[in-house]
Amino acid sequence: MAQSFDVVVIGGGPGGYAAAIKVAQLGKSVVCIEKRVNEHGKGALGGTCLNVGCIPSKALLDSSHKYVEAKHDLVTHGVNVGEVGFDLNAMMKRKEGIVGQLTGGIATLFKANGVEWLQGHGKLLADKQVEVTNHAGETQVLQAGAVILAAGSAPIDIPAAPQDGKHIVSSTEALMFEQVPKKLGVIGAGIIGLELGSVWSRLGAEVTVLEAQGVLLAMLDTQSRKDIQKALKKQGLDIRLEAKVTKAEVINNASVKVSFSDKSGDQELEFDKLIVAVGRKVYTESLFDESIGLNIGERGMIEVDDKCKTSLDDVYAIGDLVRGPWLAHKATEEGVMVAEIIAGHKAQMNYDVIPSVIYTHPGVAWVGLTEDAATAAGHEVKTGSFSFAANGRALAANDATGSVKVVADAKTDQLLGVHIVGPQASEIIMQAAIALEFAASSEDLQLVCFGHPSLSESLHEAVLAVDNKAIHAAPKRKR
Ligand code: FAD
Ligand code: AMP
Repeated sequence: MAQSFDVVVIGGGPGGYAAAIKVAQLGKSVVCIEKRVNEHGKGALGGTCLNVGCIPSKALLDSSHKYVEAKHDLVTHGVNVGEVGFDLNAMMKRKEGIVGQLTGGIATLFKANGVEWLQGHGKLLADKQVEVTNHAGETQVLQAGAVILAAGSAPIDIPAAPQDGKHIVSSTEALMFEQVPKKLGVIGAGIIGLELGSVWSRLGAEVTVLEAQGVLLAMLDTQSRKDIQKALKKQGLDIRLEAKVTKAEVINNASVKVSFSDKSGDQELEFDKLIVAVGRKVYTESLFDESIGLNIGERGMIEVDDKCKTSLDDVYAIGDLVRGPWLAHKATEEGVMVAEIIAGHKAQMNYDVIPSVIYTHPGVAWVGLTEDAATAAGHEVKTGSFSFAANGRALAANDATGSVKVVADAKTDQLLGVHIVGPQASEIIMQAAIALEFAASSEDLQLVCFGHPSLSESLHEAVLAVDNKAIHAAPKRKR
């Protein structure tokens, strides 16, 4: 007879592992099936995020930023460090250490919570049965009370730029280069393309980013877009907009010739490496039996309602498999929500308040609506901005690029969105997320006493500026 569990989770990324832990905490029996094997041949939990996404990219972003600071910025503080160099191998080892620590930590949490981990491939069959094939090719079938599909996503490859894993690569290999490429091409100026472009540019690569769209980061508020475009240009990232890559080929096993068309017509560039960062696709390879009636929607995403319920009873799908932003924290929140629903609790998610961050320097972070989106949604909007150039803490740190913009409803005063480019943007945005989650008004935040000097005071001044009350900026209009 098939072994049975209250819940079977397929995929052990931020969505799946969080769901499995929560299910166990709520007193249900649960197994998590994860097939990932790391570069040391060992099974690894944590999904894309911990293994080849959020965490290793941030480790390299931080290391490369420290190098740039030491090389160019410390002298401004009166700190002389002599000749500055770096050891790429040591950077990579540090990154691997953090990944190992965190992925191992999930395995420990599984044990502590009584979550069983089956290493291998999971496939949903009819009647909530799940077939598991381990790495030796042996199969078993589990019977589930409920199933959570959390198989995540994979990099998109485009026929124009066939990847060989060495010269034309995805984000995964771009986190593992053994040498800094002299000339690096990046297709796609999305979040991943800009973060990886930043890492290698800081370490000395001449980076060209080819982006098909005419605007950079179209999802940003216009002010943030202007701020970050200016900052990245100053750092030497050559971002070519309206540049559509039509062909990329490896030449003599040594370099990559890239053909693209832009406003000036057909062009060619040669690089040592080319990163294809044109987005990600749902990863549903052999995830379910095609005959079971699971509804699939646009871009191959599994169709779900606002509670992540699929078209099949007691089958849920979360994270990068489904609609909504493909972010680790969104996957985790969905996992926790689904676990609670399965355990019979009431649970819901607020999809309107999911913060997003781009970990360039300055960072970019936003939550809620842009000014344009708020207007399009029928709000009469009022806005306030404040520049980090007038923030004492930012100046003291010699890190004063960017600004904060607040969007609020002119009639109700409710906060609708906050948009930051600047130092510690990823941290400051969480204050805005808390405010939006609590349905705060501008006045609510205006009345908070912010510590001085702090970067967060820029958020305070921006929200004061919504009503023309900023202290450290000239008023917008005469009273
Ligand atoms: P995943 O993390 O993709 O996990 C799914 C897991 O399921 C995988 O480990 C896979 O091996 C396993 N699996 C798939 N199919 C099966 C099967 N049939 N059987 C068994 N196992 C299976 N997001 C952020 O929020 N912040 C960031 O800073 C950030 N940076 C990123 C940087 C990069 C370079 C990349 C690539 C992504 C980044 N992301 C970031 C996105 C983030 O990684 C994803 O949104 C997140 O990992 C999605 O979680 P998930 O649980 O849905 O899927
Ligand atoms: P994201 O989906 O945010 O990861 O961003 C991927 C980016 O890649 C998008 O901005 C796309 O416009 C861009 N892109 C996709 N295909 C091409 C291409 N052939 N040439 C240049 N840019 C591309």
